[in-house]
Amino acid sequence: MLRFAPSPTGDMHIGNLRVAIFNYLVARQKGEKLLIRIEDTDKERNIEGKDREILDILNLFGIKYDKVVYQSSNFHIHQQMAKQLLEKEKSFVCFCDEEELNFQREKAKKEKRPYRYSGKCENITKEEAQKLIKEKKPFVVRIKKPSENIKFNDEIKGEFEFSPFEVDSFVILRADYTPTYNFACAIDDMIYDISLVIRGEDHLSNTPKQIHIRNSLGYDKEIKYAHLPIILNEEGKKLSKRENHASVRWLLEEGFLPQAIANYLILLGNSFEKEVFTLEEAVKFFDLKKISKAPAKFDMEKLKFLNKEHMKKIENISEYLGYHPRYEELLKIFRDESSTLKEIKEKFDKVFEKSDDKEYEQEREILKKEILEHPLEEEYDDFKKRLMKNTSLKGKKLFMSLRELLINQKHGAEIKDLYKAMKPYLKEIITKR
Ligand code: GLU
Repeated sequence: MLRFAPSPTGDMHIGNLRVAIFNYLVARQKGEKLLIRIEDTDKERNIEGKDREILDILNLFGIKYDKVVYQSSNFHIHQQMAKQLLEKEKSFVCFCDEEELNFQREKAKKEKRPYRYSGKCENITKEEAQKLIKEKKPFVVRIKKPSENIKFNDEIKGEFEFSPFEVDSFVILRADYTPTYNFACAIDDMIYDISLVIRGEDHLSNTPKQIHIRNSLGYDKEIKYAHLPIILNEEGKKLSKRENHASVRWLLEEGFLPQAIANYLILLGNSFEKEVFTLEEAVKFFDLKKISKAPAKFDMEKLKFLNKEHMKKIENISEYLGYHPRYEELLKIFRDESSTLKEIKEKFDKVFEKSDDKEYEQEREILKKEILEHPLEEEYDDFKKRLMKNTSLKGKKLFMSLRELLINQKHGAEIKDLYKAMKPYLKEIITKR
């Protein structure tokens, strides 16, 4: 089984979505199930409703999953496992308070070395510990650091090795008996029989800790790892969650299609023979092992290009956007010159607004009168000839004002195409211009 493990603590970021997509693709390729695990262990940071929002986004993108679990519903298992580790003496209760820990942290800082747990409580006897617990002294549970280096082979980044010092004797159960992130994650990956963890490289330093937890529990089935390189913004810096285009919701609101965003995220840091494809098509040729080790740079122009390509595939654009079918041809014209759905809508809605442009106002009035006075039967060439003859307008004055009369914009599509598409309702439009 594969898993996507979002935290319900904020808006879904394109980095998270990329992880979800890759997990989906690999699950499909391996014929394994996909679990969605909502990592809600950090109560303070959870935001009400974000879990639903994440699932809605997955559905919108066509990412099908088999099961949804909330990490908090497994707390009792995490506690049981912590107890098991205590019994096996693989972990210990630690009574060091904040003051003590801060003192150690400051000391490490002064000595210019990384802070690690001092080991102070590791050798407290059982009797002593029980006495302190009876006295209601708060405690946490720490796992004992490993005795050997922890090694693993990342499917994308290659070999890694972490020393016991780097892993450290870290907290697995907090004073309120809730599990820490690494503990809950390591246990859940074990109990759901996860075969491969695909996640962002910001989690790389958690991996040896999670492997160490399972080793200590005696779980000997190997879980493979693939850590995805980060996404950089267009300036080459880490794409921050606060940047607009990092938010999936923002991209959707801007009129990017889910299929184009998915296509873009699959292409990011990859190269295939084909550039434009659907999620389902990617199942056939996606190769996790071929992803570039280097960070991928976000490229808005590329996303726009892909969006345009996917917009072309929409069969019924008026229906898709919720407009009357009689506007299909006009919407197609706008689609061909737009990069997003929002752009199409803006161009289309503008057609129905009154013009507030003073330039060519007079010319527009002359043309309006001419068009409204005669039946609109002729083809464009004859229509154009008639306008030229009866209004004496020509060149820019004629064409810019005519385009503006039709669509309320000076620049844009060929007037010939607009005329053809708008002929059945052209008079209605210009009457209100
Ligand atoms: N909840 C973590 C996140 O949203 C993912 C943890 C994991 O995949 O192991 O970054």
